[in-house]
Amino acid sequence: MFRNKKSRKPCKYIFVTGGVLSGVGKGITAASIGAILKGKGYKVSIQKCDPYLNVDAGLLNPVEHGECFVTHDGKETDLDLGHYERFLDFETSKYSSVLSGALYQELIEKERSGGFHGKTVQMIPHFTDLVQEKIAMASEGSQIHIVEIGGTVGDYEGLSFIEAIRLFSNRVGRENCLYVHVVYIPWLNTSKELKTKPAQNALKDMQGFGIIPDVVVCRSERPAPREMCEKIAKFAGIPGEAVLNLPDIESVYDVPFNVLKSGVLEILNRFTGNKKAPDMKRWQEFSRLRGKKWAKTVRVGLVAKYVGNDDTYICVTEALKAAAAWNKVNLEIEWINAETATKRDFAKVDGLVVPGGFGARGAEGKIKAATYALEKNVPYLGLCLGMQMACVAAARKGKKKNANSEEFGAKSGENVIYIMDGQQGKESTGGTMRLGDYPAVLKKGSKTAKIYGSTEVVERHRHRYEVNQEFLPAIEKGGLVVSGTSPDGELVEFVESPKNRFFVATQAHPEFRSRPLNVHPLFMEFVKSLK
Ligand code: GLN
Repeated sequence: MFRNKKSRKPCKYIFVTGGVLSGVGKGITAASIGAILKGKGYKVSIQKCDPYLNVDAGLLNPVEHGECFVTHDGKETDLDLGHYERFLDFETSKYSSVLSGALYQELIEKERSGGFHGKTVQMIPHFTDLVQEKIAMASEGSQIHIVEIGGTVGDYEGLSFIEAIRLFSNRVGRENCLYVHVVYIPWLNTSKELKTKPAQNALKDMQGFGIIPDVVVCRSERPAPREMCEKIAKFAGIPGEAVLNLPDIESVYDVPFNVLKSGVLEILNRFTGNKKAPDMKRWQEFSRLRGKKWAKTVRVGLVAKYVGNDDTYICVTEALKAAAAWNKVNLEIEWINAETATKRDFAKVDGLVVPGGFGARGAEGKIKAATYALEKNVPYLGLCLGMQMACVAAARKGKKKNANSEEFGAKSGENVIYIMDGQQGKESTGGTMRLGDYPAVLKKGSKTAKIYGSTEVVERHRHRYEVNQEFLPAIEKGGLVVSGTSPDGELVEFVESPKNRFFVATQAHPEFRSRPLNVHPLFMEFVKSLK
């Protein structure tokens, strides 16, 4: 039995699976349950198991899969881990994300090195045991551990994960496991009704795998009548209050309140043996601020290569939205296509954000945005590539007319941004960038240090290129100074404009550490500067 080290009480496990189709908000449901349990005072951890054959999410296309999230210890993961961190205000780790590819890799490496001592290596028990081991590892030190299984129950690749979570209850006791199945109830426009048949089939599939869910969450486009939930409950063989309906709502941060309104709290109380009402005061405050129409509206231009899809830069947009709520302003995000951006686009907004990115496409538009911000004293927040492009912009202003980044194949001899030592030749390989937490020392008295309220900071990273410090005189001439470096001074981590209202750019990704209830200071101050 897995025990929490401190309390010596067994850890409890909540498994969240999906039926009918994927992408209906399993991750948000899992994170919302986590937020409620955290509100009840528990130490909660959360993990995603994805049946994809990829080893990690680093090489996945961000347009198809959304943003690649990076954990503090440098794992490139699915964007759901970002939701988990935002809802639970805790740091996920490399153990929080499990992809089939990595598990196969581990098993095959063990087999190749003779670790199986001549045994036949099989999906059951070897793969399923490894899944369980990963779940146990990720739950270390927690009182409640939530596991979301990616995809849909019945998917070919996911079968062994479902078997693993079924077997897990044998290890820790069924009373220490809660199975939550999230199904979708489609709305049929022709007959103007919600249909439960796909959900019934999904529940039948689940039963076929030997799991009777304790809770069924019905996601739907519009609210489902109570009788519909009762019908599903009968079908699933569970009490009516164990079936809840979560219709689409405007903000994901209101999902915990919808979950609380249902009978699920009772079930969570019984599962944990603790009736204490969850403390959701700060969430309520955040919800109140978000829901208000303020007198002031700020417009932020997000200059990016992939426009219009919130998921691609979700940590950035979530950080901006939360910063706007706490700053008591309405926020309008204007997507500015970096490939076609002109001064006219920049003139329409109050401030510019250039987020992270890879490749030459759209780079000139990002450089133009930084130039515009420098010249017109428009607030600018540069994140990773956004800092590199700001340095190129400043160097060009500082008379290095051909300044560019080595990443884009420029051969001008003025590569203000060049590849880091040890990164050559690794450009299209997975897990090889400078990833995860790295410390930086900020210049005393700099605006950046004032914003952080400290001269020692730690931020998450994901990059291969860095500022070539030979070009610092040109960058300074162009209006930017270095306000933070790695502790050994080798890498430029922050730049700022001493003259501008707000112009801060960083080689890191502060958006990964911004939480709705604890907004990152760079985002708070950036939005404040737009007021
Ligand atoms: N492409 C740049 C690099 O690898 C920036 C990366 C990023 O923005 N995450 O250094």
